[in-house]
Amino acid sequence: MTLVTRFAPSPTGRLHKGHAFSALTAWTAAREVGGRFLLRIEDTDFTRCRPEYEAGVLEDLTWLGLGWETPVRRQSDHRAEYDHALERLREQGLLYRCFRTRKERLVLAGVAPHADDPADPAAFTGGPHAPEEEARRLAAGEPFAWRLSLEQARRKLGDLSRLSWIEEGVDPGLHHARPEALGDMVMGRKDIGAGYVIASVIDDAAQGITHVIRGEDLVPMTSIQRVLQALLDLPTPIYRHHRLLLDDEGKRFAKRDGAVTLAQIRADGTSPRALREQLGFREPTGSEP
Ligand code: GLU
Repeated sequence: MTLVTRFAPSPTGRLHKGHAFSALTAWTAAREVGGRFLLRIEDTDFTRCRPEYEAGVLEDLTWLGLGWETPVRRQSDHRAEYDHALERLREQGLLYRCFRTRKERLVLAGVAPHADDPADPAAFTGGPHAPEEEARRLAAGEPFAWRLSLEQARRKLGDLSRLSWIEEGVDPGLHHARPEALGDMVMGRKDIGAGYVIASVIDDAAQGITHVIRGEDLVPMTSIQRVLQALLDLPTPIYRHHRLLLDDEGKRFAKRDGAVTLAQIRADGTSPRALREQLGFREPTGSEP
């Protein structure tokens, strides 16, 4: 079996070292075994993605010395497929409309809305609305999200922890789905249609991805993706989650924290080879400037 993997950034900002590490990890894994490396642009949320960031992704990865197959799959070109899957789930009664804002959900969960704890009950959704409330908020034109009801998923699939995948990265072995940790996740929104989670499982299948190689921050998401694979009759790839690269203060790199971008690193005169070596990748790529 030829290993097929991908790097799948969302163009919501410029790439930073954490992205470079992830892309190099996947690219190297493919290269080491004569596999294939694909690039996928995850731009389902067009309210946050921008064309100049997408151009930045290509520029930064090229500078880093990576190559990928073309054409690059861009999720915004495949909306109809994702919306069709969303519709399939909806027709089976697996989704419900959620009008609650984050603040409303926190209040319902008994947490102060200003609590800045990332481990907060984001997973707490409050469940489906009473029919009258749903009708009222719908008629008022309020924005809403389509959430996947784990209860309904369980009704259809049985015990969700029977769904499993092979993990070859951190904590290797057979893993079982524990989607409860993230709760009834958003599958789509009134404004953008189907979102990242659906798009990612459809794309991994459509692109024949055998190995999903990505950061361990996405381990919890894997449970939901595994449930969706079962609900949408899609294959389950092997997962290889890697440890996250940490900055000097031991924090993970994040766009929202203003992590130094690859563009800045380049502008400061660092060579791609130097950056690769700093990140622990020594193999020359043959495209040295
Ligand atoms: N688009 C996701 C991100 O930028 C990556 C998802 C994945 O690799 O499955 O975090």
